[in-house]
Amino acid sequence: MSDAFDLVVIGAGSGGVAAARRAAAHGARVLIVEADRVGGTCVIRGCVPKKLMMYAAGFAQAFDEARGYGWTGVTGTFEMSRWADAKAAETRRLEGIYRQMLTDAGVELAEGRAKLLGGGAVAVGGRTVRGQRLLIATGGAPAHAALPGLSMAMTSNELLDLRELPRRLLVVGGGYIAVEFASILRGLGSEVTLAYRGTLPLRGFDTDLRTRLATALSARGIVLASGVDMVGLERTSSGFALTRADGSVLTADAVLNATGRRPNTAGLGLEDAGVALNAAGAIAVDADSRSSADGIWAIGDVTDRVNLTPVAIAEGRAFADSAFGRRPTRVDHRTVASAVFTDPPIATVGLSEADASRLGPVDIYESDFRPMKTAFAGGNARTYMKLVVDGLNERVLGIHMIGTDAPEIVQSLAVALTCGATKRDFDRTLAVHPTAAEEFVLMREPVRRVGSAAVPAV
Ligand code: NDP
Repeated sequence: MSDAFDLVVIGAGSGGVAAARRAAAHGARVLIVEADRVGGTCVIRGCVPKKLMMYAAGFAQAFDEARGYGWTGVTGTFEMSRWADAKAAETRRLEGIYRQMLTDAGVELAEGRAKLLGGGAVAVGGRTVRGQRLLIATGGAPAHAALPGLSMAMTSNELLDLRELPRRLLVVGGGYIAVEFASILRGLGSEVTLAYRGTLPLRGFDTDLRTRLATALSARGIVLASGVDMVGLERTSSGFALTRADGSVLTADAVLNATGRRPNTAGLGLEDAGVALNAAGAIAVDADSRSSADGIWAIGDVTDRVNLTPVAIAEGRAFADSAFGRRPTRVDHRTVASAVFTDPPIATVGLSEADASRLGPVDIYESDFRPMKTAFAGGNARTYMKLVVDGLNERVLGIHMIGTDAPEIVQSLAVALTCGATKRDFDRTLAVHPTAAEEFVLMREPVRRVGSAAVPAV
């Protein structure tokens, strides 16, 4: 086969595969290069196995609730090795599907590490190929530089491959990965301490979600060691010790480093190919994902824009449609919905109350209740919903929820927000009853007006 391609994609994760398939559908001759398993972070060592672990953790609470609903004898013991075997089989199955999708699309797969040689040439597995266009979609990897000693800790990669549950787990960080795994491992039965330097977890999310998440995690028995900087991690005879700036020491049998991720740029030959990095070490790109080098584009986490799978996929497809489909397309990074798969889960789209209030007057609508299913079984968990509404034109600017099914509910409402729905549109939408989601269309009066030129809500 010839080694000249219309497009060479480096990285067969969600973004790279989406771009390769879309370009091939437009008639391009495409090669995709992958050094690890096809499917990338999301499918192999991220979103998918994480969610399968979250489902496993959910049974403990389901068993508890079942008793409140009249069931007896509902109990069980979690065997992590059985879950690990089933998870491995599922990721193998999904990897097979990804490989088949590439074959069906007519995309050639080269397994090995790619190195850019300049002028559209790429070395991979002892072969040199040429792409008229190159797309870098190499993703990211856990960062270890936040604290001395962190490289001794597990990352989410190793945690998802555990065959035995740690008895006492210390999670370092307060972002997506930290809170999700703290919540999941607690659900499975570990004693969990979540150590983060801020006063609340999930910086960047709406404050009302953050405070409620902290309360809910704490109520589930997770120790929140917050508000203190961390100094370093050491190994001890019995496990690990994390020293904090106030002199306190947190100990555990196992530690998860969840202090962020860094773009995978090393060893790609980017400098030789003239591809510039930004200050954060990510590939610098313009709004069309074009790098500083002619003929080279980059998408997904390696560009460190909005590091979410659907965004990488959208960026990949936009690139392919623009380059090969004569359909110039750009991704709007402003309104990206996202979810945090804690228990209770969080989901959010649009502006937080604080961000919106900096732009002008906003009306805040809230609902806070004990959901029927939990309340019946005697549980105290609550659901909280918030709409952030433009005080001048009633447009819904932000939708936020913490509670059961939040990700599923907010995904649907994200359509309304993307379409520019107003509070009046929500009001004239009839409820589906009895659901939790209906509360979003039943909020009558604002609880407060905030922001510049704010006047008290009536
Ligand atoms: P995040 O950027 O979300 O969080 C990193 C955390 O590490 C923050 O709490 C940060 O604290 C903390 N941190 C960083 N440096 C230090 C330090 N020197 N000392 C103490 N704490 C420190 O990264 P994650 O690794 O959790 O996730 C990476 C990305 O993956 C996310 O941005 C997200 O886009 C994606 N992701 C999405 C998921 C989803 O959609 N459900 C799930 C998992 C990941 P501080 O806030 O104070 O800076």
